[in-house]
Amino acid sequence: MTLNTSFQALAVETGDNPRPLNSVSREIVKLEDRQVLIQINYSSLNYKDALAATGHPGVALSSPLVPGIDAVGSVVDSNSPEFSAGDNVIVAHEDFGTRQDGGWAEYAGVPESWLVKLPESMSAKQAMVLGTAGFTAAQSVEALLNHQIEPDSGPIVVTGATGGVGIVSLCLLSKLGYEVIAVSGKQEHSATLEKLGASQVLSREQMVDDSKSPLLKGMCAGAVDSVGGQMLTTILRSTRRGGCVTACGLVGGANIAMTVYPFILRGVTLQGIDSAGVSQPVRQRIWNKLAGEWQLDLAEISSVIPFDEVGQAVQTILQGKIFGRTVIQVKA
Ligand code: NDP
Repeated sequence: MTLNTSFQALAVETGDNPRPLNSVSREIVKLEDRQVLIQINYSSLNYKDALAATGHPGVALSSPLVPGIDAVGSVVDSNSPEFSAGDNVIVAHEDFGTRQDGGWAEYAGVPESWLVKLPESMSAKQAMVLGTAGFTAAQSVEALLNHQIEPDSGPIVVTGATGGVGIVSLCLLSKLGYEVIAVSGKQEHSATLEKLGASQVLSREQMVDDSKSPLLKGMCAGAVDSVGGQMLTTILRSTRRGGCVTACGLVGGANIAMTVYPFILRGVTLQGIDSAGVSQPVRQRIWNKLAGEWQLDLAEISSVIPFDEVGQAVQTILQGKIFGRTVIQVKA
């Protein structure tokens, strides 16, 4: 197949001569053994992408860098026996959009081990409405189920409820029959969160208790937390006996200061979630589940933006003002 050798991408430069996110031209390079060339249809905007796009040293690990930890597209060239031209695939790997160029580009050449097949019952756009945030929400809900937290166990708290991980977790838990208490700093979206299934919406302040009490009144059987910091410690102190709290994020702070009492007097589990560390078979299984029994209609909580609006969207997500999921249209 003949390809254009150059393509458009968004890139950021760090180091001695930093350059903010800007449009660049990239060259398609020869594939190595077991590499696959993808023509990208859609990418998405995750909090981590915004950190990469602004050159955060812990996330932008090379320079220049094309951010974008998610991408979906079609194989156009393959040196892998596992993937052929025309296959529709999802790309995700911890190095994609951090150490190596990611999904905010028309093409990406990646190792076969970074790919899963796009399930047949899922469109490319639906895959990016979910993206890493949605995948992480599914992982978090699986973790609750693995700890025997069922819908009749009691309410589940979801923090950062208008954000990517939070809103997909809310929708999924609600679909599965759980009672969900949403925590959000955007009270103007309370009615929407209730429509999506929240039984009540608390403000961020209501979910932060800065007293010295090691244990608080048990209000939930579990939680999906993407905020961290004091909100996470308040939830752990408010979780009932035998409960489970998943933690994946740190938008509210990376440090947690608390006693061990919730763990030793109530048997509470703190379950860390690391979406990047998931093996390819498990990744495929979770995507298949999201395309099947866990399929969600997320049209109302997503928007699609072109390349030239990505810079503005990066600022919005960093300010904690984003609502739902933002899909980036790469191929017109
Ligand atoms: P989003 O920016 O989409 O959502 C985060 C939400 O958190 C915001 O919408 C806001 O919701 C709330 N929020 C923002 N700032 C604050 C603050 N200072 N204090 C309290 N709440 C705040 O991000 P994502 O959902 O994509 O990611 C959330 C977190 O999870 C990030 O830290 C990200 O890096 C992490 N993550 C980790 C993964 C892993 O594998 N461990 C995978 C995916 C994400 P509201 O206004 O409703 O309160």
